[in-house]
Amino acid sequence: MIMVSMNNLSWPTCVLLGILLGLALVAADRSVDERNGAETSGGQGAQDASNDGAPDSSGSGSDAPDETITDGSPTTTDPNGTYALTLTFDDGPHPTYTPQILDLLEQYEATAVFCVVGEQVRAHPEIVRRIVDDGHALCNHTDSHDEELAQRDDDMIEHEIEVTDAAIDAAVGTDVEVRYFRQPNTFVKPAVAGVVADHGLTPLDWTVDPRDWSRPGSASIVQGVLNKVQPGAIVLLHDGGGDRSQTVTALGQILDALSRAGYGYVLPGADT
Ligand SMILES: [Zn+2]
Repeated sequence: MIMVSMNNLSWPTCVLLGILLGLALVAADRSVDERNGAETSGGQGAQDASNDGAPDSSGSGSDAPDETITDGSPTTTDPNGTYALTLTFDDGPHPTYTPQILDLLEQYEATAVFCVVGEQVRAHPEIVRRIVDDGHALCNHTDSHDEELAQRDDDMIEHEIEVTDAAIDAAVGTDVEVRYFRQPNTFVKPAVAGVVADHGLTPLDWTVDPRDWSRPGSASIVQGVLNKVQPGAIVLLHDGGGDRSQTVTALGQILDALSRAGYGYVLPGADT
């Protein structure tokens, strides 16, 4: 099954391959009816009743963001020469799933970036405070999760960014720096990048997308991460935008595997 020579692989990669092999055997016994992804329910606006944000990648009628994803390509260099990557969680905060994810991150002493939606920040400011208190970073993900942001004029783009910024300030105070911006449904487009830069925000794209928003089953999410990660990876997951119980289940296994492989966690562009 695995044709590459183990002699040519670093030990964390070997550990991950071993874990993946075990997961594949488990996954083979699973029923496909677990695969109830949102993408089967239609294109634009395909959101379930509990969807209080919007799943990334589902609004265009396509199964994928409209830019090629460079899965696995490091976009940051680990400054310490150790195995480190970045975990990101989009579309929250969510009153059910975000606290569960924070508990898991705490258990594994992992730091992450939370790309929050302004509407959700106003609804659940106490969860944003816990995100910050737990040592994680915040990322501006627009106020309304506008998936057509690149088609808006600069005034509307500024509005989406500034209203979200104000909601974060109201939740956690102005001393908490928000360094990142992630555009809904896509990598940051040129039409948006200028406004993002004017607000002192760093565009935050991703390199590993296990498509957890489509609810493909927790085993699929686990494998979608573990078979693509490498030092410098930026992993896209979702704590909001619908039922994220599969993501929560997967995250425990992902953190366990990454921990055993010797991975640590960094923020993009961090000096240390
Ligand atoms: Zn999103």
